[in-house]
Amino acid sequence: MKRKVAIIGAGASGMVCAITAASGNNTIKIFDKNSRAGRKILATGNGRCNISNTAITMEHYHGHHPSFVRHALKQFDRDKMDSFFRSLGLELTGVEDGRLFPMSLQASSVVDFLEFACRKKGVTFVFESEVLDITPENGGYKLSYEGGRERFDAVVIASGSGAMPSLGSNESGYTFAQKVGHRFYDPFPVLVQLISADKQCTRASGVKVDAVLSAVIDHQTEQTIRGDLLFTNYGLSGLAILDLSRTISSALYHGRSASVRIDFLPDMPLPSLKKALTVRAKTFSSMPSSLLLNGLLHKKIVAMLFEKLHIDGSKALSGKPLQSLAYEIKNFEVKIADTRGPKGAEVMAGGVDCSEIDPKTMESRLHSGLFFTGEVVDIDGDRGGYNLHWAWASGYLAGKRLSL
Ligand SMILES: Cc1cc2nc3c(=O)[nH]c(=O)nc-3n(C[C@H](O)[C@H](O)[C@H](O)COP(=O)(O)OP(=O)(O)OC[C@H]3O[C@@H](n4cnc5c(N)ncnc54)[C@H](O)[C@@H]3O)c2cc1C
Repeated sequence: MKRKVAIIGAGASGMVCAITAASGNNTIKIFDKNSRAGRKILATGNGRCNISNTAITMEHYHGHHPSFVRHALKQFDRDKMDSFFRSLGLELTGVEDGRLFPMSLQASSVVDFLEFACRKKGVTFVFESEVLDITPENGGYKLSYEGGRERFDAVVIASGSGAMPSLGSNESGYTFAQKVGHRFYDPFPVLVQLISADKQCTRASGVKVDAVLSAVIDHQTEQTIRGDLLFTNYGLSGLAILDLSRTISSALYHGRSASVRIDFLPDMPLPSLKKALTVRAKTFSSMPSSLLLNGLLHKKIVAMLFEKLHIDGSKALSGKPLQSLAYEIKNFEVKIADTRGPKGAEVMAGGVDCSEIDPKTMESRLHSGLFFTGEVVDIDGDRGGYNLHWAWASGYLAGKRLSL
């Protein structure tokens, strides 16, 4: 069927949807408030674009109905993704932990190929044109946008989330969804740095360590991982913090208490550490305690531990205070006051309620011809290429449906 289709958002899901839908006889216009396509894609993976992962499975997705992704992941699996991007001219490469990137390691390659494929298939881009309103009308939709009004047979809301508004993101997708009667779950930031109220933390600002980290929610350990932790002047950052951040952010959003427990010496069990420190303290009995941990931990970390335990670094340490120090090295708890919010977040959890969307086509169950793709939907993925994969897969499903 030949249709006039509007896509709101020239981002990841919008462009894949356009390329796929253009395989039919459709006339397609993509609106974007930015002056160019794929602005957020350019910022992904530190400019390298972690496009997907070799292990795309449902466990990596979250939301109120995470099984919603099942069909999309099956239809747009690893092989399909490879062949889709290869058919555009883009070659992918993998790194050890399963993350996939364009072979050039340049996010701009991904945008270039997506935009070129859209244009080759006759898709029209309308840049610097924010869609302001959408109204169902006579079996179609009237769109008001900066610069005009127009009727379309079908509309795809691919407008993303409000994560990192500096890249032009906003929450208009939820407003459009609500306007036409869709429910949505309030967004909250995930894959985001954490702010601590503990001043000691800032003592170690700038220090990066490999540690085992646990998210402790209402005094219960809910998630434990090992990885990079970076102390900053506001709290905690680093890849492992991003990986813990959904658990923490969700807890804070629901009014629960949250902290991060840090094991600074994960390869040394507590009894061994206690023993080692005792032997060291005995061997170097006149050594000031600040030197006792020298070479084991970064000096700024030692200063932070001493401040917390009120240890005078100029004096020798033994007995119970030494045992407490060993315990603290393995169980240093940092209270989390907040996240850095949408402005620091890579992704927002929450979004349009999946139960009102057909998982096979991404079409609204309330309005035919209306589609939701990508991050605007109440699905968020782990770090590692899962969010972009969801954007590609959901955009593909909507495009496929529109191409029939
Ligand atoms: C810094 C950063 C790094 C990231 N790194 C990765 C990574 O390496 N791997 C990964 O998997 N994910 C990563 N993500 C997440 C990923 O980029 C997003 O999940 C994905 O881009 C979402 O795709 P989308 O199609 O839903 O929306 P987007 O790609 O955000 O596109 C939405 C588009 O809609 C436009 N728009 C919004 N409202 C309107 C309107 N009313 N009118 C007109 N246009 C509008 C916006 O300008 C935007 O261009 C990262 C995110 C950030 C911020």
